[in-house]
Amino acid sequence: MTEFLIYSKRCFINDRFVESTIHIKNDKIHQIYNGYNEHNEIPLLNYNNLIVMPGIIDAHVHINEPGRDTWEGFETATKAAAIGGITTLIEMPLNASPVTTSIKAFKIKQNAAVNKLHVNCGFYGGVIPSNLTDIEGLIKEGVFGIKGFLTHSGIDEFPNVTKNHLEQIAPILKKYNVPLLLHCELSDNNVPKVNNPKSYQEYLLSRPQNWETNAIDLALDIQKRFDIKVHIVHLSASDGIKKILEHKEKTNKLTVETCPHYLYFNAENIPDASPIFKCAPPIREASNNDKLWGFLLEDGFNFIASDHSPAPPEIKQLETGDFFKAWGGISGLQFTLPILYTEGKKRGLKLEKLIPLLTKNPAEFLGLDYKKGILKIGYDADISVWDDTHEFKITEETIQHKHKGTPYLNEVVFGKNIHTFINGVQVVKNSELKTLQQGQFLLNKIT
Ligand SMILES: [Zn+2]
Repeated sequence: MTEFLIYSKRCFINDRFVESTIHIKNDKIHQIYNGYNEHNEIPLLNYNNLIVMPGIIDAHVHINEPGRDTWEGFETATKAAAIGGITTLIEMPLNASPVTTSIKAFKIKQNAAVNKLHVNCGFYGGVIPSNLTDIEGLIKEGVFGIKGFLTHSGIDEFPNVTKNHLEQIAPILKKYNVPLLLHCELSDNNVPKVNNPKSYQEYLLSRPQNWETNAIDLALDIQKRFDIKVHIVHLSASDGIKKILEHKEKTNKLTVETCPHYLYFNAENIPDASPIFKCAPPIREASNNDKLWGFLLEDGFNFIASDHSPAPPEIKQLETGDFFKAWGGISGLQFTLPILYTEGKKRGLKLEKLIPLLTKNPAEFLGLDYKKGILKIGYDADISVWDDTHEFKITEETIQHKHKGTPYLNEVVFGKNIHTFINGVQVVKNSELKTLQQGQFLLNKIT
């Protein structure tokens, strides 16, 4: 049995900072006391002025195992997560092989993760044209949502679906109240011919905002007609904000996320021949990203997720610099907190707003809010302890991802995760891994 106390002047409880002592017993928060509160023989960890908050929940991560575990794997990704203060992540149905589009593939993926989970991990299932009859089975097996693409996914085994396919599975999603997660880009041929594949500007022009807004129109239409939960992953186009806002006034079944890279980088500063920055939809211009920030500050985004999607250097075309041949995906799982905190500080983002975007809100989206996402008696003891005054440089030595390549390399940021507790066990101590394999498999409970 583990039993200990965590004290800090700044525990994030009920959406504000309060001086508290949190009593952990086994894997749960047993009690929360006001102020400093010692208890007989129970060890007390005095964190003084550090921030004590619920562990981060990253609802959008690609781990690639099995099948592409030379890209990333459960071992390395969940270590990186723990170091970064993430206590729960949800893994996408691609880019592992097989892709998670059948019960059999879902079981293969879970088996591949056994003894490798250093944080809690759940899974989404995927929809492709050939698996419409597999969706109900995947939901019954406990996936947290069904993800689909409206344009080429980058992985041939995961072809995109059309509106017609989504209409066919919508009644199943409605029956179980499970969200449809959509990669909102609807491709067309009205894009300029490529002259210089190393030009970031040409890459940006090849995936215009109207691809996103056309896909959003389709997503909103499906949401409305079938009254299902629809989640727009990684919004990058600010042109989509107005229609999302209008739709959100009519329903609470539409949710939207964005990612740290869309909020931290601007197209103007991305050098040519640097596909380490390539993702889809692309990182857009500063004027666009300012609008994303405006939307964030006005509570438009439901949560923020990393969309960690790494690949080996050769697949990222780091030597050739070819944006069009390179894998589209940003590696950054470990750095969500310092990246958002550092940029957010400049933009007037209060911690009281940032923390729920990383904890309570994704827990609500995933239906895990009955046991995760806040510090509350009876809840799982998943906790991040971090120092908002600690400035550090992101170096290769600090990166736990399988590959060191990330656009965040050499950035100087504020906000270092110091300790991580998962299910009541201290997994990270003084920013180093201490105890492994404490993560649990999470399955969605359908009602
Ligand atoms: Zn993704």
